[in-house]
Amino acid sequence: MMRWRRIFTRGVSGTIALARCAAAPRTGFRVLMYHAVGSAAADDALGIYSMAPDLFAQQVAALADYDSASIVGLEQGLTATEPLRVAVTFDDGYRDNLYRAAPVLQKHGIPFTVFVCTGFMRQGSGNYLTPGELKELAALPGVTIGSHGATHTPLTGLDERALHDELATSKAYLEDVTGRAVTGLSYPHGAVDRRVRDAAAAAGYTIGAGSRFGSNGPSRDPLLLCRTDVLGIDSVRVFKQKLHGDWDWYRWRGADPAAS
Ligand SMILES: [Zn+2]
Repeated sequence: MMRWRRIFTRGVSGTIALARCAAAPRTGFRVLMYHAVGSAAADDALGIYSMAPDLFAQQVAALADYDSASIVGLEQGLTATEPLRVAVTFDDGYRDNLYRAAPVLQKHGIPFTVFVCTGFMRQGSGNYLTPGELKELAALPGVTIGSHGATHTPLTGLDERALHDELATSKAYLEDVTGRAVTGLSYPHGAVDRRVRDAAAAAGYTIGAGSRFGSNGPSRDPLLLCRTDVLGIDSVRVFKQKLHGDWDWYRWRGADPAAS
């Protein structure tokens, strides 16, 4: 239901975005959110969480040409002094991130973060990274691995113990496989509130990426980062509109946890 609403809203919002001629925002940290590139994403009947490889390559080329902003790693984006920054992230841990997305991003020297759900990995489905592939991905220049939980359960519905398990076991497993510290987290389903945010901080995370749409100002809590959802149906034109901020009113995920 939610997805149909998104698709419907898309038609209306595309028109509004075109009608607007606002100047590009001069400051802010925009974190792009991708999922699969070239393979089927889970629970994705409409195909919006998987992007065709050629469209992905065109979007990355447009990003590389985007002179208004610095393209930075996620962590760097929080401390960099350039007024306008953009970072690239992926959720879930699809193996196509290694084989399809990484070569394109590496060609343009664009750093990126992959948030891996360790349960998906351990399930051994063909679409998700294996431990060997994860290690290979983590070793590429400019690549950072983060956690996307252990079971992809919305963390807001869990009791204290289960919440801690999700945060701690996924982190430990990813650190074990990659041999690197894991300090970034993407909240499964974007589900985060004050309690989940504080539990993530207590478990050792310093960056938390949500699904609330938009750019991040200098006062934004690094554990409650907004992201810009890039969908498989986004043409290069829509992608540029999103980079430019024309879609930042598009906040269909409800209340902002930073406000509570
Ligand atoms: Zn996910």
